[in-house]
Amino acid sequence: MSKIFDEKLLETAAIDTSLREFSHLGIGGKAKNLFAPHKIEEISKIVSATAKANLNIFPVGAASNILFGNTRDKVIILDKFIPKFCEVNGNEVLVSANYKIAKFIDEMKELTLGGLEFLAGVPANIGGAVSMNAGAFGGNISDFIEFIEVVDHDGKIREYQKEEIDFGYRKSSINGFITKVGFILAPKPKEEIMAEAAKIIAFRKVQHPYNFPSLGSTFKNPENHAAGKLIEECGLKGKTIGGAQISKKHANFIVNKGNATYRDVKSLIDLMMSEVYRTMNIMLQLEIKVLD
Ligand SMILES: Cc1cc2nc3c(=O)[nH]c(=O)nc-3n(C[C@H](O)[C@H](O)[C@H](O)COP(=O)(O)OP(=O)(O)OC[C@H]3O[C@@H](n4cnc5c(N)ncnc54)[C@H](O)[C@@H]3O)c2cc1C
Repeated sequence: MSKIFDEKLLETAAIDTSLREFSHLGIGGKAKNLFAPHKIEEISKIVSATAKANLNIFPVGAASNILFGNTRDKVIILDKFIPKFCEVNGNEVLVSANYKIAKFIDEMKELTLGGLEFLAGVPANIGGAVSMNAGAFGGNISDFIEFIEVVDHDGKIREYQKEEIDFGYRKSSINGFITKVGFILAPKPKEEIMAEAAKIIAFRKVQHPYNFPSLGSTFKNPENHAAGKLIEECGLKGKTIGGAQISKKHANFIVNKGNATYRDVKSLIDLMMSEVYRTMNIMLQLEIKVLD
């Protein structure tokens, strides 16, 4: 257990496990401060203790967008063991942040509530998707948000209406740990939702590498460009360093072919950025979160 935390309650939330176990990419080592709380009150305690220690929290959902490297100065909080719930009232839905997007879309379909089908096939939790303002095919998750509840940086629980949050291209101004999200969904026939989700999953399977773990798009698309196309034009498709590879299927994806390390993936990221800048004078911006 980390020295910065000595409160009794936190002992139950601290865990001594490799982050690899939680990483969608299958990469990660031991973190100095890793917590897996079971209650919202535990999150509040961890967050206030973190602020007092002048460190930053780093919430983790499905870790489908995080490359774990150096985590020394971070206090990592997993959403995994917090109770899950989903309450529906007409087309207003209140859902815990650790709900899987896929399960959510599927359950809402049964209630003829749609809208989020564009996220079918995205291996995220609701909280991570909201924090990143996940989107695809012209839709963003923020289009359907009414409010969110967060454990704020001071440990207090606050509710924010959508208008109080800045949502941008794969980013948001949310600064705390999201605990629940209020959505307003669109009434839609079940068959339509099913057909749309199936079409999107089929498209993803053709376009994206699903046979090896990845973090989705490594870089954001620069204005008027597709990052994957720029990387491909630099001749980097299939480039391999150690166990990591720039996908042969889609050059904006890095896949773990089995035993990739943080260093392998980071070296590929650096190469993609430097080659695209050298040949096209375009500076790529990371979409994934790299803890280095
Ligand atoms: C195969 C594949 C396909 C993908 N397709 C898409 C796509 O179409 N569109 C898209 O936008 N993304 C896509 N992604 C990327 C990724 O799934 C999304 O960014 C997703 O929103 C991340 O959710 P997560 O739960 O995994 O978050 P994590 O990876 O765990 O975290 C991502 C960020 O959110 C923060 N966060 C997580 N949980 C919370 C919380 N409870 N409170 C506050 N902050 C939190 C983290 O601190 C981190 O900064 C894809 C990834 C893969 C592997």
